[in-house]
Amino acid sequence: MTSSDCLFCKIVAGEIPHDTVYETDTVLAFWDITPRANVHVLVIPKTHQDTLAQMAGEDAASVAELFTAAGEVARLEGIDESGYRVVSNVGADAGQEVFHVHVHVLGAQQLGPVGP
Ligand code: IMP
Repeated sequence: MTSSDCLFCKIVAGEIPHDTVYETDTVLAFWDITPRANVHVLVIPKTHQDTLAQMAGEDAASVAELFTAAGEVARLEGIDESGYRVVSNVGADAGQEVFHVHVHVLGAQQLGPVGP
């Protein structure tokens, strides 16, 4: 399923330029357009779901694939041993801007505490 007005579906379709880090048949990882860490990569499923919570309720195996891919991104970016953060904003209060499931992979520097 794709959503014709979804930014990340357009990235998957190749309609919007992106800097691919890792890709499988089901997952795409690319650099965030506004990196907030020395490494800031987004990992998304190629099929559209609005939020991680929605995906977890319908397709838990795909959630596992996202986190497996996040680990692969960390390895490819050379931050798997130094440490990194994987985070997903779910809904308005979390500040989710793009309603296509994604996890942020952040690292290559000392990160601050998780919080508001
Ligand atoms: P959210 O706040 O968790 O929904 O994160 C959405 C992320 O998408 C933000 O970190 C944005 O910088 C990023 N973003 C928005 N548009 C693009 C784009 O065209 N390419 C790559 N990243 C994008």
